Amino acid sequence: MALSYSQLQLYRTCPRQYEFAVVKKIPRQISAGESFGSSVHNTLKKWGEVEIRAQKSENSNQQSLFSEEDVGKLTTTHSPLPTDICSLTSDFLLSLWHSSFIVEGYESRLEADFARRRGERLLTNFYEWWQREPRTVLAVEKGFKVPMNDTTISGRFDRVEQEEESVHIIDFKTSAPKSQDEVDADLQLSIYAIASEESLGKPCTKLTMLYLSEDALVERTTARSSGQLTDARKQIRALYERLEEKDYHPTPGREKCHACPYRGVCSASAV
Ligand code: SF4
Repeated sequence: MALSYSQLQLYRTCPRQYEFAVVKKIPRQISAGESFGSSVHNTLKKWGEVEIRAQKSENSNQQSLFSEEDVGKLTTTHSPLPTDICSLTSDFLLSLWHSSFIVEGYESRLEADFARRRGERLLTNFYEWWQREPRTVLAVEKGFKVPMNDTTISGRFDRVEQEEESVHIIDFKTSAPKSQDEVDADLQLSIYAIASEESLGKPCTKLTMLYLSEDALVERTTARSSGQLTDARKQIRALYERLEEKDYHPTPGREKCHACPYRGVCSASAV
């Protein structure tokens, strides 16, 4: 059985929700929050593609992890996106935002317009963060597949930056920030550290959850020891065994059930 990280995360949130979404494939509406998150990710993907192109065209002395062919695959061929570093302005970022904005999921035009303005402020904060130091971006939205125990875990790195002889993996979030302790123990980041070694061929010495919001950007940076990676593999094995046993026992909770798209059909819902 191959699993994506998002499926694994869904199972950890509530096995019944996993059953509805992945096993029974019950259709559901995209929420406004998911729509907003996708719009932000699409914007930053295009932004990163322009960065990669600009780096290439300037014949940067910095080494890339990827061959010319790989970089070509990572960027959108025939895209009208510009290729020079001068294009990377805050106005350009906002133009990417407006062209990437997904209207699906909002209940009214007013709500969508509010989200558009929220996104403008959020990306202005991102731009300030981005400008703080020189960056060499190696990949954006790069997919990976890594064999783990008896399964294969797939996922996607939002952004990979060069960090001397290793890489820095950055994950963009539009949700409320987790604490540093939670980020230090986060399974998603452990999977990224494992996938970095196995799919990029480079160790990952820095992992960041970049929480983007209109109020302030929160950067939580961490790293993983080999012991933590062994522990992550054990956690995945335990989840995989429960999935193999078809253990879809619900784990209701007020907050998660409130956000669950299946609460209307779930007999165990807490709300
Ligand atoms: S409503 Fe609650 S218990 Fe039911 S599937 Fe959703 S999260 Fe799980």
